[in-house]
Amino acid sequence: MTVSTHTRAPLIVVSGPSGVGKTAVVAQVLQSAKFPVKRAITATTRLPRVGETDGVDYYFWKRERFDSEQMLESAEYNGNRYGTPITEVDGDRIVLLVIEVQGAAMVRAKYVGEHLSVFLLPPSWEILEARLRNRGTEDDAKVSGRLRTARIEWERRNEFDVRLTNDRLGDTVRALEALIREQFTARGLSCTTT
Ligand code: 5GP
Repeated sequence: MTVSTHTRAPLIVVSGPSGVGKTAVVAQVLQSAKFPVKRAITATTRLPRVGETDGVDYYFWKRERFDSEQMLESAEYNGNRYGTPITEVDGDRIVLLVIEVQGAAMVRAKYVGEHLSVFLLPPSWEILEARLRNRGTEDDAKVSGRLRTARIEWERRNEFDVRLTNDRLGDTVRALEALIREQFTARGLSCTTT
């Protein structure tokens, strides 16, 4: 599938607190999308979790490598660096950026009129906390740190174009798909199968 266009395809920023379900929502959108869209594989200096693969979930880079690459945006988050390598954005496909709020602010400043930003909200704080604890990937201290960061991120929710509450996964996926499709057609992008 390729896009024939004279307009640059927009970036779609998907942000929201850790544990809200950004990765799951985006994975489903990618699976069912009927238009050319991809997720940028971002880079991080944190260690891989069990089941995570380098080059698939993230580029797991050492600090020196991370600092030597050209990034579209980057941020320090809970003691690690995260960033989108510039090479992940090719301009003729809609690219989904699943990133935290500091990086989202950098995209907003740099890609005026060329992006749509979406903030995912948890149905409640209790549910967010339960999701983070049940994920079992972090110890108690790290979960508490992520919850503190989540509050700070939540306070910036109004900086985003759209806020979606991720209650039922299927509903959130459909809502995000509709937003992407809107961006697609509003910019006169056409979709052809090759
Ligand atoms: P985690 O360690 O749970 O995989 O990710 C922590 C946070 O960093 C999540 O909110 C995730 O979306 C965000 N993140 C992942 N990649 C990037 C990136 O390239 N840039 C920014 N700013 N945030 C990222």
